[in-house]
Amino acid sequence: MTTVTTLGFPRIGAKRELKAALESYWRGDTTADDLQRTARDLRHCHWQLQRDAGADVVPCNDFALYDHMLDTAFLFDAIPDAYRTLADADPLAGYFALARGVQRDGTDLRALEMTKWFDTNYHYLVPELHAGQDFRLRGDKPVAEFLEARAAGHAARPVLLGPVSFLLLAKTVDGSDRVALLDRLLPVYADLLSKLHDAGADWVQIDEPCLVLDLDDAARDAYLRAYAALAKGTRPSLLLATYFGRLGDNLPLACALPVDGLHVDLVRGKEQLDEVLKQLPKGRVLSAGLVDGRNIWRTNLDNALILAKYAQGHVGKNALWLSPSCSLLHVPVDLAGEKALPVDLKSWLAFARQKIEELRLLADALQDPRAADAGLALARDRIESRRQSARVHRPEVAARLASPEAGDIDRDSPYPQRRIAQAALLGLPAYPTTTIGSFPQTREVREARARNKAGKLSDADYETFLREETERCVRFQEAIGIDVLVHGEFERNDMVEYFGEQLAGFAFTKNGWVQSYGSRCVKPPVIYGDVSRSAPMTVRWSQYAQSLTDRPMKGMLTGPVTVLQWSFVRDDQTRAQTCRQIALALRDEVLDLEAAGIRVIQIDEPTLREGLPLRRVDWQAYLDWAVECFRISAAGVADDTQVHTHMCYSEFNDIIDAVAAMDADVISIETSRSRMELLDAFVKFRYPNDIGPGVYDIHSPRIPTGSEMIDLLEKARAVLAPEQIWVNPDCGLKTRGWPEVREALTRMVAAAHALRAGLVRAA
Ligand code: GLN
Ligand code: ZN
Repeated sequence: MTTVTTLGFPRIGAKRELKAALESYWRGDTTADDLQRTARDLRHCHWQLQRDAGADVVPCNDFALYDHMLDTAFLFDAIPDAYRTLADADPLAGYFALARGVQRDGTDLRALEMTKWFDTNYHYLVPELHAGQDFRLRGDKPVAEFLEARAAGHAARPVLLGPVSFLLLAKTVDGSDRVALLDRLLPVYADLLSKLHDAGADWVQIDEPCLVLDLDDAARDAYLRAYAALAKGTRPSLLLATYFGRLGDNLPLACALPVDGLHVDLVRGKEQLDEVLKQLPKGRVLSAGLVDGRNIWRTNLDNALILAKYAQGHVGKNALWLSPSCSLLHVPVDLAGEKALPVDLKSWLAFARQKIEELRLLADALQDPRAADAGLALARDRIESRRQSARVHRPEVAARLASPEAGDIDRDSPYPQRRIAQAALLGLPAYPTTTIGSFPQTREVREARARNKAGKLSDADYETFLREETERCVRFQEAIGIDVLVHGEFERNDMVEYFGEQLAGFAFTKNGWVQSYGSRCVKPPVIYGDVSRSAPMTVRWSQYAQSLTDRPMKGMLTGPVTVLQWSFVRDDQTRAQTCRQIALALRDEVLDLEAAGIRVIQIDEPTLREGLPLRRVDWQAYLDWAVECFRISAAGVADDTQVHTHMCYSEFNDIIDAVAAMDADVISIETSRSRMELLDAFVKFRYPNDIGPGVYDIHSPRIPTGSEMIDLLEKARAVLAPEQIWVNPDCGLKTRGWPEVREALTRMVAAAHALRAGLVRAA
């Protein structure tokens, strides 16, 4: 019998129950027991849900109160010394101190660094290791959760993050080689495996997603040593799970490891099935990841069935498992909660529960083709209805994409000429000052929006409120002497949602929550159809703000790559194609802003870097279309209209060519946290256009001193020409409070003035 299983399930709960429980525990409103009870209820509910949907075996220990990477570090006692006393006295307090930091009763511990989990929008905490690190088992979470699942009557398979991926994803604080810690770590894994074996686990899933990355020889060698060692002891059978892409050149390695089963991603790595079947040693279980664990579309089951049958022909009935491509952590729980979506659109979607139902149907079809006929026919109808839908495919969008305009990616003149035209129009001083767009989204602003949405504040009153906020923001910027103003973005909920809500081709779910980190969730828009813009989206607010002042007002847009990156994207055409459609819609907005008298326009692309594919060989193709899309949206304006872009990260070195190729007149970037380290990229590469290296770290409530900002600008002057430099914070100010912002920006303007007046000599 073919087994249906999953690699992991969302932990947060269909209605974000875990978020509510965590936050009330952190506030001190509920106890640790309350929190643990909610956590246990969620685990039970999710196991049962998976069973009901058709899973034969459910994963366990995939649950985490905050993050599975942190759980792994905690489990192996990889706890930095500073947190140890707390963790020993109160494990839960120690755990959350690592996750969130603590600042109370004389304890001052920062949170661990957080970073993206591969190319998903989930973020994990980066364990901090050091040379000579000791590991030991702390607690028995995997065993306890296995026993808990079994006691509830489930066939459960514990999930562990594998030792090599754990080390590769961690960092050492002393610069030592993290992979060198493998030999110290392996005995603890072996001990854990034997404990799971004794507890009665037949199988353990060991996740090694790093096997889909480019690996060096040391990492490959670590894999061989690790699994040779783990194969020896008393242990359950091991399922080595790889996901988020094809194994590629690591396939021989994955097949050489002495494990009992291999999971492969057959959504992103569809083409690898043949090769996998060729290389997989006889007798191994193949877990076929046939259903997309990263996106919310129904699977083409006819196609999946062909692959499943093909695989079954090679490995046999009993050695084939059917599974989503990766953990279901990256999709919402259950589509059933969505009552407001159009019926046809809803019929095209599958959340976690529906994905398991699809797998069940596939397994049934393998067993008895006739029994699954009706289900497969329904699935076929849905695919067909989506393929033919006029809601999805709009000829006018296709026509526009094929028009010469879509190929117009060049401004009229090269930058040096534009620079002269813009200087004439804008007449800005040296070291011009600006901000990144948003001003504090205070409680009043959020409440007014919520009340308006709930019908408790009339549209007219809400409008008046927003106008007043905007005006106050403009007056403030004038008063402190900012050169290029912004309107403050008070009318926006979120930088993608605000645009998605106004564009055709986007839909919004009610409960389509996905964990971003800890208790933080996002509800990505669903791009289901051809994207177009029917009316201006931002012009009214920019125009109003410009009417209040003689200084240049900067129009503020979210760029095409970022809109794409933070949405569930359609899977029936390439990401590049969808991105081009968004770019063309934004191009219209840019031109409308220009026509309305907005002559400085910022197109934010904070996610350009995070869109990078996992494998280096795929980078250039991505960067080519991403840059092209930005240029489509920007290239329509006249030479003297100044285009800005903004990015908030500090690793630039490896994509600096692409950033320059965007050809924005001005770019603002995050630098203050890294003390301008980012500018290393500019030592070798002469960035041709203007650049505003952020001098005020908006992620911290700390107000920088004027001399700190001058100091950072001095560093910038060491590698950039003075006439290239803008003075601005490092990102939007929406999470900050007015008192800090007032003070920090006043100091920032003073710093720019000091440089301008030559009071500070160039380094
Ligand atoms: N313009 C946006 C803001 O200021 C940019 C946000 C971002 O970079 N993430 O909020
Ligand atoms: Zn930013």
